[in-house]
Amino acid sequence: MVKAIVGANWGDEGKGKITDLFSEASDMIIRFQGGANAGHTIICDYGKFALHQLPSGVFYPHTTNVIGNGVALNIPSFLNELQTLKDGGVPEPNIVISERAQLLMPYHILQDTYEEERLAGQAFGSTKSGIAPFYSDKYAKYGIQVADLFHESHLLSRLEAVCDIKNVLMKHLYNKPTLDPKQLCDELLTYRDKIAPYVGDAFKLVQTALAENKNILLEGQLGAMKDPDFGIYPFTTSSHTIAGFAPVGAGIPPMAVTDVVAITKAYSSAVGSGAFTSEIFGEEADTLRRLGGDAGEFGATTGRPRRVGWFDTVATKFGCAAQGATQAVLTAIDVLGYLDEIKVCVAYEVNGKITDTFPVPSELDHAKPVYETLPGWKSDIRGETNYDALPNNAKAYVNFIEEKIGVPITMVSTGPKRHEITNRL
Ligand code: GDP
Repeated sequence: MVKAIVGANWGDEGKGKITDLFSEASDMIIRFQGGANAGHTIICDYGKFALHQLPSGVFYPHTTNVIGNGVALNIPSFLNELQTLKDGGVPEPNIVISERAQLLMPYHILQDTYEEERLAGQAFGSTKSGIAPFYSDKYAKYGIQVADLFHESHLLSRLEAVCDIKNVLMKHLYNKPTLDPKQLCDELLTYRDKIAPYVGDAFKLVQTALAENKNILLEGQLGAMKDPDFGIYPFTTSSHTIAGFAPVGAGIPPMAVTDVVAITKAYSSAVGSGAFTSEIFGEEADTLRRLGGDAGEFGATTGRPRRVGWFDTVATKFGCAAQGATQAVLTAIDVLGYLDEIKVCVAYEVNGKITDTFPVPSELDHAKPVYETLPGWKSDIRGETNYDALPNNAKAYVNFIEEKIGVPITMVSTGPKRHEITNRL
């Protein structure tokens, strides 16, 4: 059984919490895209952790956690994360890094930083973690695979070819110091020994797990709005955030994925730039952000304040469809308990026309939200585990959203902790 857990929106929907919860009954958890540029917050028996590259199954000794071939592996940050777990008393997790995953190199981070500097006011709001240069290089065929670390002369000749090109950029576009392939190679070789114990033939491992009918979770990063094809391009990320990419980035047959769980938050939030039609501002936003607490305040990786807004059924319906969602999980409903009334964005007005179709990015910039207002429930429902015990207005809110997004909402999460969740269907 293979289940993908993915975001229906801009990321930060609570995928980490849900992956951690589902990991209890899973054998293998695979990260299939992205890198250290976003985080998943998990609150478990060992405390609160922000994971960036590690799959969210690492808190259970029975799971195998795979960093798939589609991931951008930042080795120093991977090692730091492992250390954080160790320092937090988490038993050594079982981790396998695909030998086909590619390395996020120090020059990717430099390039990202220099590019943001160069663009100044028109920058894309990158997290400067090198993700865009990494994926550009991968598809331009200048990438370095993890396996290359174990073939020194091959590695050096690859680095020489890469540096020829990078140094033109460094010198002439950015006016910065040039790169030395030999020095880079030596740096990589010091990392090699540290990650060697984790590197393996993930493809074979996954194929064996499939043959043995194991329960596999595919863990997505960010959400559909950040997908370079379906999202708010160019304010997207550079790898595919949709479940359709999971088979590629994890190395499994497409038909093996039988369940796609789209995670969506009971209100909207986004980190970074780009269209966010139902965004709110001022005091109204500050209150939601503050009461959102864990769920709302700051990005898990960047510490940047999250932009917040009302639930957007136009974006979420589209996001669920782009994901191919078979079910949805609504998180952080507890956060809305303070409101007398709750607005939900049910359509956009684009160039004088009302539509519930999510527009292409060039039109999205002109979209204005059309709201419906629902009554609030004015009570604290944090930690509730019985769906039927939720206030009627909270259930009506869930029903309303479900009808609009066209995907069954099977679970409603009522708090950040592992078991603060209700089963609805
Ligand atoms: P991810 O990238 O999708 O895993 O999301 P993040 O971890 O970046 O952000 C989600 C935030 O919401 C985290 O701080 C979670 O602890 C928190 N969270 C998840 N589910 C709930 C919930 O049901 N209620 C509340 N209050 N917070 C939640």
